[in-house]
Amino acid sequence: MAEKFKIESSNVRYLKDVIEADYSYDTTQVYEENGVTKVKPCSTKFTFRTERKVPKLGVMLVGWGGNNGTTVTAAVLANRMGLSWMTKTGKKVANYYGSLFQSSTVCLGSGPDGEVYIPFRDLLPMVHPNDIVFDGWDISSLNLGEAMKRAEVLDWQLQELLRPHMEKMQPRPSIYIPEFIAANQEARADHVIHGTKAEQVQKIREDIQDFKRTSGVDKVIVLWTANTERFCDLIPGVNDTADNLLKAIELGLEVSPSTMFAVASILEGCAYINGSPQNTFVPGAIELAVRHSVFIGGDDFKSGQTKIKSVLVDFLVGAGLKTVSIVSYNHLGNNDGKNLSAPQQFRSKEISKSNVVDDMVQSNPVLYGPNEKPDHCVVIKYVPYVGDSKRAMDEYTSEIMMGGTNTIVIHNTCEDSLLASPIILDLVILTEICQRITFRTEKEQDFQTFHSVLSILSFLCKAPLVPVGAPVVNALFRQRTCIENILRACLALPPQNHMMLEYKMQ
Ligand code: NAD
Repeated sequence: MAEKFKIESSNVRYLKDVIEADYSYDTTQVYEENGVTKVKPCSTKFTFRTERKVPKLGVMLVGWGGNNGTTVTAAVLANRMGLSWMTKTGKKVANYYGSLFQSSTVCLGSGPDGEVYIPFRDLLPMVHPNDIVFDGWDISSLNLGEAMKRAEVLDWQLQELLRPHMEKMQPRPSIYIPEFIAANQEARADHVIHGTKAEQVQKIREDIQDFKRTSGVDKVIVLWTANTERFCDLIPGVNDTADNLLKAIELGLEVSPSTMFAVASILEGCAYINGSPQNTFVPGAIELAVRHSVFIGGDDFKSGQTKIKSVLVDFLVGAGLKTVSIVSYNHLGNNDGKNLSAPQQFRSKEISKSNVVDDMVQSNPVLYGPNEKPDHCVVIKYVPYVGDSKRAMDEYTSEIMMGGTNTIVIHNTCEDSLLASPIILDLVILTEICQRITFRTEKEQDFQTFHSVLSILSFLCKAPLVPVGAPVVNALFRQRTCIENILRACLALPPQNHMMLEYKMQ
């Protein structure tokens, strides 16, 4: 048995290829009847199926030669080889700190000595990051060894250990349309695919096919960690439907490189994740993903400031304190910061960062009126000297009891790419396992997959993409609980309720 533990329940069947679990999904409906609010508990019977065989996963990164691309590749190599290296503060050993699956735990239940915790990765059969094969594209021709040096993220001794391996990796040429990223990126763009938009998309499709064929991986996931683009105009007839989007590529109309990569991936049947803030997923791209039953997810890695915001405001509003003003300053000196110093690219980031407290505010009509929101301001400045070590300063002001105010100020310093890299790994690993999960209710004959817009990825994204009409959840622990409880449902385990009644009885 590949699994780390066995469920003892008549609701769970370990079949040759799948784990099958019967699960009761309990919800509560609220409705008005004759002026009375009625609340009705509901229960739906589900059967979940999870394929047991973990495939060999290939990940293609767009922007492979950037800070995130090189850092995540180097981190996986270093972990795979079990590397350690010396720094001025002593010996460091490769690890996956910051990864939900590799470095956080879930409570399996209670044993004779109290609660039993296991690594999150052991809940179901999942890809291990050490086994991921990387490939990718970049508009800069540097090999990954040189690109890692340019990134200035990893300790020098570690870079020396990794260089012979990293140097052998060469990004494939990519699609460069200057009007989408900042003009200050132009000098980097020495490695580009020429031709029409249709030819460029075709080339990306051929690259994916070539990687699949030559690397021996079972499946490929494509993830955008290239520079932030400006927002795309939503134009009827151009990107509003899947057919119009395909036609726009043929005609060479307004389609961003990130959307062209999304289209190529979807047409190749590969899940596509957007780690940057721009609106890659125009309505036509979403329709195309649904049509081809391919997962898409995004947007924008939730790595630092936003992660804290989606915890802190949840705490404040959840504790009944009225947060009225949130002001966030950032300065960073890496190439991402340089690109974001251009107004249109900054605007994409500003939009992505702006809605992150909406669900928490809307959940509390005691504190906030129907259209009332805290003031929320985001500033980003490019300061080359600080490099990848991003500074984020936040001020949260809340109204407290009887006219008082409470101001919390946070200063956060951290290497940006070392926060984003484990998130990249979690994104692809979670997407991959979701591809092996199907389910049906007792009323249905056929098993179905999750919706193409993979909203379970929300925990890892600043501006979560959800199916049309679905609520957006930003609160971090609600997002985490969602992942944990859905994976527990695949084993017919009840959701974590933290009631601990067994310790509350006489
Ligand atoms: P980076 O500038 O170091 O790397 C981006 C890479 O993309 C560069 O090597 C560049 O040459 C390449 N590139 C640009 N356009 C391309 C294209 N069309 N095709 C292929 N390659 C292209 O930036 P980074 O620090 O690695 O961040 C990458 C992205 O992730 C940015 O958009 C950033 O906003 C986003 N992001 C980063 C974090 C974080 O914590 N690091 C958090 C959230 C979002």
